[in-house]
Amino acid sequence: MNSWIEIDRKALIHNVRVFQDILSGSDTRLSLVLKSNAYGHGLKEVYGVCKDLGIEDIAVAYLREASLLRELGYTGNIFMLTPIFKEDLQVAKDLDVEVEIGGLGFLKDWSFCKNRPKGHLKIDTGLSRQGFTLENLDEIISFIKEHDLSKDLRGVFTHFANVEDVLEQTYAKMQIDLFNKACNRLEEAGIHLLRHASASSAILLLDEARFDMVRLGVSLYGLWPSQLTRTSYESLKHDNLELRPVLSWKSRLASIKKIGQGQFVGYGCTYRTVKDTLVGVIPVGYFDGFFRSAGEIRSYVLIRGQRAPLIGRVSMNLITVDLTDVHGVEENDLVTLIGKDGGEEISAGIFGDWSGTIHYEVVARLSSEINRIVVG
Ligand SMILES: *Cc1c(COP(=O)(O)O)cnc(C)c1O
Repeated sequence: MNSWIEIDRKALIHNVRVFQDILSGSDTRLSLVLKSNAYGHGLKEVYGVCKDLGIEDIAVAYLREASLLRELGYTGNIFMLTPIFKEDLQVAKDLDVEVEIGGLGFLKDWSFCKNRPKGHLKIDTGLSRQGFTLENLDEIISFIKEHDLSKDLRGVFTHFANVEDVLEQTYAKMQIDLFNKACNRLEEAGIHLLRHASASSAILLLDEARFDMVRLGVSLYGLWPSQLTRTSYESLKHDNLELRPVLSWKSRLASIKKIGQGQFVGYGCTYRTVKDTLVGVIPVGYFDGFFRSAGEIRSYVLIRGQRAPLIGRVSMNLITVDLTDVHGVEENDLVTLIGKDGGEEISAGIFGDWSGTIHYEVVARLSSEINRIVVG
């Protein structure tokens, strides 16, 4: 194996328990967001750990993810977070997944379908992607009543635009207000649905947005949505919640070679040694999810609890590091690309900073071809 991903079972269970605790005593359901191969953690592996924790709602992005969950024996609710097209309605029905209804065109396709899957109406309260706005809600309500569709609707939901990137939640509060208005209008029309709005950051920061269900994504995996969310949480709740990162990405040192001063390393001859240098080769590259941009700055990997800086460009399947100052280094040594080694840690967040992106993208982009191993 050129590299592998370790999934920390205990950390994952801990995170689920944290959110089950947060919601305990309320009727709010916890839906686990396992889209995008469980944020790169491995859908099969994450489901395997979570399946005995009393989970009854899972959200995914693609039908093939829903299909895999059914193959694994999951019988609970599955909700699709991304739109499907009309030709997939039958597949959705066969898999017994709930679909989002976020536009008039699709609402009609769905209504014409005799044997239709259950649906959730999406309300656009300010993200301006999918969803019905309050302006066209009356028309939608009439359509639903006219075609007797409410029996096939399970939920109504919205999605926040800007909770994790701000300290003041004014925009989110406006969104909550609009969502409440939409829900009230549906209620008045006799359409009673499961209401849901919050993703990780709102679960943590906006108690009034919990409604009947929440959709837990990134923080299930032990990652704070952002540093600001963490700071806000701590000042709001006077508490520091412990989330435990679930994923580590590891590889091994394939070779070590000494080269002289003034030698170039890697494509484009972008790096030139200033002294005799011990060059290590690690068999991962941008194909695996090691961003090429992470090679443009002084990023590093961990070996024997020490930092080994990247030198030269990131290739498709290889990276090169400077081992000159890594004490006791040997070929085949364990390499930590994301995770902890000794007193050092490379978080998905730091890796994101190096790569010009965020931790969400870092983990989601880890190639699904890499083996995921559940440990602990
Ligand atoms: C991805 C997603 C979530 C989860 O978001 P996190 O910030 O990762 O918790 C929730 N709702 C919708 C609609 C999503 O697309």
